[in-house]
Amino acid sequence: MANFFKDNDDIQFLLMHMDLGTLARTVEEDFRFAAEFESAPVDEADAVENYRLVLDSLGRLSGDFIAPRAESVDREGNTLNSDGSVSYAKGIAESLEKLAQAQVMGFTLPHRFGGLNFPNVIYSAAIEIVSRADASLMNIFGLQGIAETINAFADEPIKQRYLHDFSAGKVTGAMVLTEPDAGSDLQSVKLRAFKDANDRWFLHGVKRFITNGCGEVLLVLARSEPDRGGGLGLSLFVCDRGPTVHIRRLEDKLGIHGSPTCEIFFDNTPCEIIGERQRGLVTYVMSLMNGARIGIAAQSMGIAEAAFRVARDYAASRAQFGVPIEKLPAVRDMVIDMKLAIEAGRALLYETSRVVDREIGCMKAVENPPQDKELAKQLKNDSRKYKRCAGMLTPMSKYYCSEMCNRVTYDSIQVLGGSGFMRDYPVERHARDARITTIYEGTSQLQIVAAVRGVCSGTAENLMAEYAEQSYTPEVHDLLERLAEGRELLKKGVAFVKDNGNDYMDLYGRALVDVAIDLINGYLLCRQASTNVEMQVQTAEPGVAIPMRQRKAQMARRYILRNAPKIEALVDMVCAGDKSTFTAYEVLAGPVPTD
Ligand SMILES: Cc1cc2nc3c(=O)[nH]c(=O)nc-3n(C[C@H](O)[C@H](O)[C@H](O)COP(=O)(O)OP(=O)(O)OC[C@H]3O[C@@H](n4cnc5c(N)ncnc54)[C@H](O)[C@@H]3O)c2cc1C
Repeated sequence: MANFFKDNDDIQFLLMHMDLGTLARTVEEDFRFAAEFESAPVDEADAVENYRLVLDSLGRLSGDFIAPRAESVDREGNTLNSDGSVSYAKGIAESLEKLAQAQVMGFTLPHRFGGLNFPNVIYSAAIEIVSRADASLMNIFGLQGIAETINAFADEPIKQRYLHDFSAGKVTGAMVLTEPDAGSDLQSVKLRAFKDANDRWFLHGVKRFITNGCGEVLLVLARSEPDRGGGLGLSLFVCDRGPTVHIRRLEDKLGIHGSPTCEIFFDNTPCEIIGERQRGLVTYVMSLMNGARIGIAAQSMGIAEAAFRVARDYAASRAQFGVPIEKLPAVRDMVIDMKLAIEAGRALLYETSRVVDREIGCMKAVENPPQDKELAKQLKNDSRKYKRCAGMLTPMSKYYCSEMCNRVTYDSIQVLGGSGFMRDYPVERHARDARITTIYEGTSQLQIVAAVRGVCSGTAENLMAEYAEQSYTPEVHDLLERLAEGRELLKKGVAFVKDNGNDYMDLYGRALVDVAIDLINGYLLCRQASTNVEMQVQTAEPGVAIPMRQRKAQMARRYILRNAPKIEALVDMVCAGDKSTFTAYEVLAGPVPTD
């Protein structure tokens, strides 16, 4: 009996290490829903127990049911039928049915729509667990953000029409943004939204690369103001997948074969507007994409975890030169670095999810501020702080976890040697599935553009200053000094970049964001090493277990000490002032090939 929740000691640890009780109190609004809904928790302990129960059952479903189907899903893919309908791969259809039965398709939706009303931290854990079993299924499971957007911004009748069905798993959704000429640059969206004489909205035009475009409920970004270019000419609409929605093609792609990627033609499709006109991109889609970015970070974690486990096992069992290959320094180095990168990524993802939960909690609380003026002021300040931090940590998580999962899956194949290249092992599938994570929901380059603002405006420094104020075990005090040195270097790099203008910031943004992430992760790992949680974890030595905090202290040490010279080198590069990218492109890149 495999259980992808129970067998993951890091997830188990983090759920104890984090203050889930406080998060539960926030999302349950002091447990006021318990009086009205039987499923709502009555107190912190009840809520946390419920989170564990749901993750446990999802862990079993993922381990026993979804994972064994992943290979056949990958080989079979989806089918575009002659009548324009799409059939999922058999394993995907079966797993979706099981997920609906398990009542986990409304993870963060409110109780009143039949949702679980769980915090994002738990949703992130759930996405990782499902992705580890089958990354392509996660694409459909993870589209719960469609329902969240409807819940956050649509009028009540629209919520009533769709949200119960989402929670019950009767419908799935799609996020319909991209067009042939509007990818990263969504401000260029052209698909037309227009009104008829009876004031009803319709959609006309083409969208491409739409995950689960065959889903029943489509959220579509469209140009409602024909005379207005840019983002302010766009509104968000919801429509059913009726007879005027034509799936013209399913993409034939490298990975995530179980996730149908559709080209859609909307032929005067009736629809309804979400929220207010002209706020489609600037408010609603930005919110939708931020949630989805955390989802992709969690998906990346699941893929990396799956690949690591295969490599870890292989490194112990494969012998060359008379020894298991894990005895060879080059191999054991890869194995350790994979594991460390995964735990660093998970630390960042959970912290990001926690901050987003706090941000949402503050936003709700600000709507009904306390009478006490000081408390109300504090609440407003907190709300602003969490918003700024979430705005920076979200793209950081998406960037770090997706790039990390590509490195980990690449190295997994390397650990397996020739066998890793063959379809006999799942790591080649993991590597193919991983590749998309740095592209959709905004490429890594776009995540850097979003994150570097927070690094250069002081949000990263303020956050780290707050981390530095927390209490730590003496065992990591020397590491905290290294982190403090790193922060000084980062300040130097930021000052240099600011002096050299926006183009320079675009050019060296990646280096600054890399440094900031390494430092933030360093603090998070030091916090984990200083945990109060009493938990024993197995080592590779049979029968030998040690306290988790001891393992985390060693992880923090390796992570911080190995990154320190890298941070110095990155800041040196930033401050060296090389502008050949601007001045010598024509020479360095050479001509465009003509054949
Ligand atoms: C499998 C799959 C599923 C998808 N699912 C969905 C979906 O469900 N809904 C949806 O709406 N879309 C979806 N997409 C579309 C996806 O979000 C876009 O492909 C992605 O945003 C990139 O857009 P593009 O492909 O047009 O690349 P482009 O925007 O053309 O980018 C090409 C290159 O230029 C770089 N670049 C562009 N602008 C900048 C910039 N300002 N700064 C630095 N670099 C830049 C990019 O990083 C990239 O390297 C999906 C795509 C795929 C492949």
